[in-house]
Amino acid sequence: MKSVELNRVENIKELAKRNYHGVVELRRYFHIHPELSKKEFNTQKKIIQILENLEELEIRRAGGTGVIADLKGKNPGRTIAIRADMDALAINDECGRPYQSQNKGACHACGHDGHIAMLLGVIKILYDIRDSISGNIRFIFQPSEEEVADGSGAAAIIKDGGLEGVDAIIGAHLWQPVRSGIVGISAGPMMAASDEFEIAIEGKAGHASMPQQTVDSILTASEVVVALNTIVGRDVDPMKQAVVSVGVFNSGSVYNAIAGKAILKGTIRTLDEEVRRQVFIHIKKIVEHISEMTGARCNIKKNTCTYVVNNDPGIAAVVLKAGKEMIDGKAHPINPFMSSEDFSYYLQKIPGCFIFVGVGNREKGIIYPQHHPKYDIDENAMLCGMEVMSNAVLKLLE
Ligand SMILES: [Zn+2]
Ligand SMILES: [Zn+2]
Repeated sequence: MKSVELNRVENIKELAKRNYHGVVELRRYFHIHPELSKKEFNTQKKIIQILENLEELEIRRAGGTGVIADLKGKNPGRTIAIRADMDALAINDECGRPYQSQNKGACHACGHDGHIAMLLGVIKILYDIRDSISGNIRFIFQPSEEEVADGSGAAAIIKDGGLEGVDAIIGAHLWQPVRSGIVGISAGPMMAASDEFEIAIEGKAGHASMPQQTVDSILTASEVVVALNTIVGRDVDPMKQAVVSVGVFNSGSVYNAIAGKAILKGTIRTLDEEVRRQVFIHIKKIVEHISEMTGARCNIKKNTCTYVVNNDPGIAAVVLKAGKEMIDGKAHPINPFMSSEDFSYYLQKIPGCFIFVGVGNREKGIIYPQHHPKYDIDENAMLCGMEVMSNAVLKLLE
């Protein structure tokens, strides 16, 4: 490393360390006070309160309950955005720690509390060294990542001009499947496109003792569920990835009647547009043919939730280099995940890179997956995240 780079790395490490305890406190504050998608009112207020102490930031509300803050460097240059999502999930927190959620029915079980705190830490680091920065940094606190079906928070931020003038964007997720201390940075598809589907089967209701007079919608829907599970194994190229999962099966109301209607809801996850298209064609074929066989009628609806999180190779290379400068070999490429992220909305518009900051730590009992009521993070990971993100922004501005 050249001496300028060494200086920068040392500087970031020092500032990250100095801000770390404040970041942990903030993470716990947001964990105690989680808010559901599009209702992040207190979270927004708290973020603005903190940012208002940094006089040279330009702060505005955006995307409903989100916040955008702009930091201008000393000299002109490119504009790089960093995004943190802010929302919690509608589940009861069972983490059993002193900072357990006090809002019943809301829990930061995806680590977005840590994302907010980490970004606030990154802002403090970069604000402190603003005189050495050429270019601008846009900090985006985005609401409603979890709830995309009725409008994603990323889409709302974009609509409010959040990407105007921005050359590239980066984001991070605190990620349980990755060990604490590791930061996963890869080029190409990192998270799946997510499509939701709903299948309505209409049979013919009747008395349970006279099945010959009915068309059993439960039986038809059951055959559909079984057959849907063959798509990934038989119809998708084994070298490509896809998931088809049914999460809802609603039908029937009494034990002694044949149900006339059944509703199935599920999700399709793919990393490739062609596979995505093919999977849906197979779903349609299966539902139509099985319904025809049993004499039921069917209706299939599909709703696109998110796109593939496709990291720009050039930007990912810079971010990986920035990661290695900070934490050596603990920053490295990892395999993609089939979960989804509305960060992909930004990547539809501008190039960027989404990274995974490992939080899993068996010794500390941090073993529960994202969205589990006992989900928690190894807070030390936030230090890693702050360091890598801060350095990545600076390198992308070079
Ligand atoms: Zn989540
Ligand atoms: Zn999340």
